[in-house]
Amino acid sequence: MDIRTKSVHTGVYKDKSYNSVTTPIYPSSTFAFDALGKNRGYDYTRSGNPTRAALEENIASLEGGIGCSATATGMAAITASMFLLKAGDHVVTGDDIYGGTYRLFSKVLPQMGISFSFVNMRDLKKVKAAITSKTKMVWIETPSNPLLNIVDLEEVIGLAKSKTILTAVDNTFLSPYFQKPFEFGADLVVHSTTKYINGHSDVVGGAIIYNNKAIGERVRYMVNALGVSQAPFDAWLVLRGVKTLSQRMEAHQANALSIAKFLEGHKNVQKVYYPGLISHPQQDLIRKQMKGFGGMLAFELNTKKVELNKFFKKLKFFSLAESLGGVESLIEHPWLMSHSSMGVEGLKKSGITKETIRVSVGIEGHNDLIDDLSRALATAK
Ligand SMILES: *Cc1c(COP(=O)(O)O)cnc(C)c1O
Repeated sequence: MDIRTKSVHTGVYKDKSYNSVTTPIYPSSTFAFDALGKNRGYDYTRSGNPTRAALEENIASLEGGIGCSATATGMAAITASMFLLKAGDHVVTGDDIYGGTYRLFSKVLPQMGISFSFVNMRDLKKVKAAITSKTKMVWIETPSNPLLNIVDLEEVIGLAKSKTILTAVDNTFLSPYFQKPFEFGADLVVHSTTKYINGHSDVVGGAIIYNNKAIGERVRYMVNALGVSQAPFDAWLVLRGVKTLSQRMEAHQANALSIAKFLEGHKNVQKVYYPGLISHPQQDLIRKQMKGFGGMLAFELNTKKVELNKFFKKLKFFSLAESLGGVESLIEHPWLMSHSSMGVEGLKKSGITKETIRVSVGIEGHNDLIDDLSRALATAK
């Protein structure tokens, strides 16, 4: 089945009473038993809920997994995934991962005895060198945030698998429409559904998708034990959003490509990071593992020519805000906003500068977006 058909139809028909064409919301916290030991598939909403189950079926099918747990936030999904590990275990991950993930990995989980190595994952030798006998997981994010560096999924997952190390891929940036980590052997795929999967900036949520029964059972056990599953109303909103994932991703990408080309030719822009530009140094890899380039881009603003605050203030259609993946365009400053928790050293190491601007390109008319940027970039200092 085409992914466009799956996202509209999978999991949604749950109303046997009235044949509604959309999934009902079941806000019930608990479900009555017909007799001792006999219920209709659900007992308590933290453990399972019909509305959430519909969403889980849908997302699992989009990623090509056998199941999914929908969680309260993306960080809840990442936290629950990390509880597959125990004290003493070691994890290898990238040095330019999402700021919130970096905070969890560098500040919170080490207190519980899990250690991390943050390396440049584009360099397989560095990944190899970081692996020890204690390494139990490799955590991959590609493309990276905000500089759109690409990690070779086949190579890194292959290396981990050869040492029976669990692999998890945060697929938030591209969504299953443009990238399918299971095709490269990943054990877990994680999403912040807050972003493209929901796509309308009106809910926070996460998902853990698995394609192995034993791992799936452990994930579902953890999500229930930790109490991080998604509320029925929120799951319903995400299910509503995911139906247009394909169409939105195409629109995000078309706009992002136009804007990236425009920015690349602008005299007040020093550099543009976007996988769809020929100037992106990882062309072969992009073609090998991605079905598209996505809607995120970053650029280096020449702040000698354009003052940051004036630039942001002049923009009409790009809100100065964190988050990404919604229908509306957002712009932000990773150094002071989304990635500030990395600290100056971490920021420098990952290549983020005080001039780096990240853009989540929305689905508005590309001419309006380019006119808007053009006016703001013309602001002389
Ligand atoms: C936003 C984001 C997260 C965290 O998700 P929340 O829903 O904000 O908790 C994790 N990974 C990536 C790549 C993200 O963009």
